[in-house]
Amino acid sequence: MTRVRGDWINAPAAQAVSRAIEAAGHQVFFVGGCVRNDLLGAPISDLDLSTDALPDRVMRIAVDAGLRAVPTGIDHGTVTVVADGEGLEVTTFRKDVETDGRRAVVAFSDRLEDDAHRRDFTMNALYATPDGAICDPLGGLHDLRARRVRFIDNAGARIREDYLRTLRFFRFHAWYGDPAGGMDADALAGIASNLAGLETLSRERVGAEMLKLLAAPDPARAVATMAQTGVLGIVLPGADASGLPSLIHLEGDCPPDPIRRLAALGGQDVPDRLRLSKRDRKQLAVIREGMGSVMPAGELAYRHGADLATDVVLLRSAQMGAPLDACIWDDIAKGAQATFPVQPADLMPALNGPELGAQLRRIEARWIASGFELQRKDLLT
Ligand code: ATP
Ligand code: MG
Repeated sequence: MTRVRGDWINAPAAQAVSRAIEAAGHQVFFVGGCVRNDLLGAPISDLDLSTDALPDRVMRIAVDAGLRAVPTGIDHGTVTVVADGEGLEVTTFRKDVETDGRRAVVAFSDRLEDDAHRRDFTMNALYATPDGAICDPLGGLHDLRARRVRFIDNAGARIREDYLRTLRFFRFHAWYGDPAGGMDADALAGIASNLAGLETLSRERVGAEMLKLLAAPDPARAVATMAQTGVLGIVLPGADASGLPSLIHLEGDCPPDPIRRLAALGGQDVPDRLRLSKRDRKQLAVIREGMGSVMPAGELAYRHGADLATDVVLLRSAQMGAPLDACIWDDIAKGAQATFPVQPADLMPALNGPELGAQLRRIEARWIASGFELQRKDLLT
């Protein structure tokens, strides 16, 4: 029998919640990302549990066990149970009875098989008991080992139930698919013949999904296939996937950054189309401004910090098809640490108002041009 490999399942929170539900006479399984990533040896972000106990019953069981229970999505079956300071999502087995392509109307079920069939990909329909034994109702283990992202049942039908699954397909392929193998042909056919429904998705969901995809170590193939199938043109009109491989190549050991990659794609109205957060909007705007300028790396780092300077130099090199200058990382480190040694008070009272500002900027420009080397006394003489 296959078992989970990691020790996360024996952590106090995981055991407290799953054993309480089990002790009350119910079926309970860890499901989804935690089981999938355990088997892949990938980091586990959150714990999701699936049970035949109805949501009210889950609340009762948790409270009786001395745990806090929050009805986070009780209408669709989800209760968050807090144990050992950690929130675990417990969702009652469900089967979809009706869908409009965005939201499913669900009915609760007492059968694990029903619950498995309403999930998206076979590798996401893997379950583990509180003891760590794997339960694989749909052959997900075989696909996971082959790193094959495959829709459960009919790809086109699954997509029409929830068009976000098209984007999730590319996301999971980027993270966990076989980089050398091709993508599942049925999935691609189902995606290509159900493009229009993507327009009905909320911008928040599309944005969140795109950023998760672009945060993968190497999403270039997934994004290229999104472009070929027409998906990219719908979610990001005007975007161009062709510059992404060279950016990713240049990134080397730099940690992946989804906004940097997004900048490489271009496109119209990107911040609004993806409902980017304030922080992400700012990063994208600074990157675009930096790319449209010839500001040297050190000055970029001085003005915007080392991370943004890194984004800009990587994107510039990718765009020009040129290798990175060997000393660029030193320039960035130096600029990021530099502190302008002249204060307004140094020029007062001789200067004030707009003249003071203009003179300070001139002195600052000299200092930057010196590679941040000139000292206060040099600058004031
Ligand atoms: P991670 O949390 O690492 O991003 P995950 O697989 O846990 O990955 P979630 O979005 O947390 O992804 O969803 C948990 C599980 O719920 C999935 O593994 C899948 O079984 C199911 N699921 C989530 N979203 C959908 C969807 N749109 N359609 C069908 N099943 C879904
Ligand atoms: Mg999850």
